[in-house]
Amino acid sequence: MRPTLSVLLLAIPFVAASQDEGFRCLANNPAELEKHLAATPGAWEHALQAKATLDDHTATFHRGGGDPLIIPVVFHIIHDNGDENISDAQVNDAIRILNEDFNKQNPDWVNVQPAFLDLVGDMGIEFRLALKDPDGNCTNGITRTESTRTYDGDFEMTQLIQWPRERYMNVWVAASANGAAGYTYYPTWLDNWPEADGIVILHSYTGSIGTSAPYKSRVLSHEVGHWLNLKHCWGDSNEPGLPENCNMDDEVEDTPNTSGWTSCTLSGATCGNVQDNVQNYMEYSYCCKMFTHRQGERMLAALTSPIAQRENLWQPENLAITGVLEAPQLCSARFGASRREVCAGIPVIYTDQSYFGVTQRFWSFPGGTPSGSFEETASVVYEQAGIIRLRSTLAMAAQRSAPLKSNTSRYFRTLERQHPSWRDSRIQPPCPTIAGGARIPMRTGASSKQTSQPTPEAIQWCSKMDGRTRGERTGLFRAPSTLAMPRTSTSPSGTHTHSAMPTMTMYCAST
Ligand SMILES: [Zn+2]
Repeated sequence: MRPTLSVLLLAIPFVAASQDEGFRCLANNPAELEKHLAATPGAWEHALQAKATLDDHTATFHRGGGDPLIIPVVFHIIHDNGDENISDAQVNDAIRILNEDFNKQNPDWVNVQPAFLDLVGDMGIEFRLALKDPDGNCTNGITRTESTRTYDGDFEMTQLIQWPRERYMNVWVAASANGAAGYTYYPTWLDNWPEADGIVILHSYTGSIGTSAPYKSRVLSHEVGHWLNLKHCWGDSNEPGLPENCNMDDEVEDTPNTSGWTSCTLSGATCGNVQDNVQNYMEYSYCCKMFTHRQGERMLAALTSPIAQRENLWQPENLAITGVLEAPQLCSARFGASRREVCAGIPVIYTDQSYFGVTQRFWSFPGGTPSGSFEETASVVYEQAGIIRLRSTLAMAAQRSAPLKSNTSRYFRTLERQHPSWRDSRIQPPCPTIAGGARIPMRTGASSKQTSQPTPEAIQWCSKMDGRTRGERTGLFRAPSTLAMPRTSTSPSGTHTHSAMPTMTMYCAST
């Protein structure tokens, strides 16, 4: 059934009460799409024409093997120095899972229900982090942008940074995905809306490690499915489980008609079926482990179509431009610091984020303990209050050995980078011991106003300081405590309550 605007716009975005309570996708983000259609005369007609063109191509498309089609990828981490600033390792883990899922290499595909085992598809699509940015500079395919827009996760956030969609698949990782776990749009909507082309995903649904978890790690496969023109198994809405969903279709022949699932009910059967394909990636169940053959054909058809410039992505010329065919070379020496402001005596964790192939490193930490390190990660304590000028006191060399062309001897290439000034560490006086009933100045990690309800749990909260410095207020605390903190942030696009934020920790600004 062809989607109608009313069907799309009636799909009410689900605002997660908790980011971990159930997977919700906001396919074709109706609120943003509605704004786009209202502001762009002819956009609706263009999308319908694009759909007709892509449908025609899909109906006749068949790919009989061949090498995988490679898609260069960039992850844009939009962060406010919080948990959403996920590690490179977490991004690499997400890419690994994506490649497993799209090449029938996910170990759990053998656990697909017997009725669907023969339908498990192998897409032959490979995702590689870009090694060259749009200007031809080296990159590890991960950018980091500091912005409180991360709490919105909306279209405006994606406009902070986007690489050309005809060369890269853009993935934005954020603290919010506009109320869902992730969202993107069909290529037919994006054909004349390149600014929105890409996938927004919660940091806590990216990969299986770090801030995410294995059971949430397949959401990116789901969103890439949409990005390559797949619908939910029940059809064109974001609300599974409704009986009327049986009247919709996902336009894929080998997926049973279904009303859709939010749970892993393996024996589930709706719409007159013997059994539904509950384990399909395009369901909301938490046991997804397969695409079907026909879903694969539909995605490959989208990828070989000019609609939304998808066919340009995997062309040899583009693979050369984005560097994904090259062996990674050492091209950047950089590092991160866990805190930007600490009390004296509280460790700062420095982590080497250089890429690629670092074989040696040396850190120096004047005034700190230890004063230097050769390790990938170093925990350093400063005992004197003050601002640590990392720019002048901390530098790192990364070395990588590589063979000379003419013989087997080796040379070393050394890169150095000074710390950018924003990473200066402000060392505060030692944390005070807070007596019950004391009023102290404090800072929290929120970007704007917030409410707090200190729990009675008495712990040494100063040891829980994190690296966030935004927002400042005076609080009355009856005991040293952590804050279970529902928080409200106000942004130009409105007020959002982020009730899913984990326990926040606070720290002293001064005594
Ligand atoms: Zn979805």
